[in-house]
Amino acid sequence: MPNYNRADLAFERGEGAWLWDGQGRRYLDFGSGIATSSLGHAHPHLVAAIAEQAGRVMHSSNLYRIPQAERLAARLVEATPFADSVYFSNSGAEANEAMVKAVRKYHADAGHPERFRTICFEGAFHGRTLAMISATGNKKYLEGFGPPVDGFDHVPFGNMNAVRQAITKETAAIMIEPVQGEGGVRPADLRFLQELRATCDEFGLLLALDEVQTGMGRSGKLWAHQWAGIEPDIMSSAKGIGGGFPLAATLAREKVAVHLKPGTHGSTYGGGPLACAAGNAVLDVILAPGFLDNVDRVARHLWRGLLDLAARHPKVVAGVQGAGLLLGLRLTDAVSNGEMQGAALSEGLLTVAAGMNVLRVAPPLVVTEAEVDEALRLLDRTCLRLTPSEAKAAAK
Ligand SMILES: *Cc1c(COP(=O)(O)O)cnc(C)c1O
Repeated sequence: MPNYNRADLAFERGEGAWLWDGQGRRYLDFGSGIATSSLGHAHPHLVAAIAEQAGRVMHSSNLYRIPQAERLAARLVEATPFADSVYFSNSGAEANEAMVKAVRKYHADAGHPERFRTICFEGAFHGRTLAMISATGNKKYLEGFGPPVDGFDHVPFGNMNAVRQAITKETAAIMIEPVQGEGGVRPADLRFLQELRATCDEFGLLLALDEVQTGMGRSGKLWAHQWAGIEPDIMSSAKGIGGGFPLAATLAREKVAVHLKPGTHGSTYGGGPLACAAGNAVLDVILAPGFLDNVDRVARHLWRGLLDLAARHPKVVAGVQGAGLLLGLRLTDAVSNGEMQGAALSEGLLTVAAGMNVLRVAPPLVVTEAEVDEALRLLDRTCLRLTPSEAKAAAK
């Protein structure tokens, strides 16, 4: 079906932060398949774990115990202070569906089925299922798909007064991305996240975090909310959690998790042996001593480099924003992010466009400072390409 806008390009192999096309041309991957290939390409430990598990049991279903899932859940809970339980699925949208269903069931079981509404934010992205396009609220994604699923209210991102005004007797939860990814790599103020936590406590609401893009180490901590020193009641993770293998998780406090009793929710593939073998291999790498510190160090190096790039090319780059290795170049009105993404591709650098004319820069978490320097050189050439007069001046 023609639902994707693809570049005329395919990759034959990869290694770390690099990809090669059929003609042997090399690309530096600073998009990570939309912030997903957290360990880069062909990571030997991940490849071996998947191959080994595929040769034993690939799928058995949730009719039986799945030791790989039990181990992964125990490790995620151990590494995530607020979480007591995990539900596994296969994509970010599904992890969010489970999150919203759990939130609604929590209030219904407490005798308040009328409390089913979730407050969401303008500029959010929560996935493409019928309910999640409603949670996302973007008219472009809703158009033509019938009446939106009821139960999602939207307020401006970062506006605490609007949040408080939107709370009614029907409100069950507040759902937010600590950094809006698709919406333009917009970080929430850490104070705002702290105030949301306090407001949820004040009104008996659940705080639901969508860490599908920000989680699993991308921010330099395991979860982006840890920078704010807060804890949610429930949280979704996907993208980087499987290192490129489809896997998603919804982590919750016990008081929420207990309401998804047998029969209330499920997935045929969810938490299967192969996906969870991949998840465990990813965790082996991300939780290794010093790994997240290194992500933070390299991320700061990239951040400084992008600020420098913005200073040298004010006609192209208006600002830098984001967190950790989820950064965005806010472009000027003179350049569109699609144009810049294409120009970077011509220079051999893969990036991803985001909302609000932002170019997303999200390398694998295993990226090195030398590779960051190479990406900065390619971005510099990309900016020169987009400013012909500067290019001429530089050539002189
Ligand atoms: C990508 C994304 C989703 C949707 O994930 P899928 O795996 O495409 O369903 C949901 N929320 C956020 C924040 C995302 O970045």
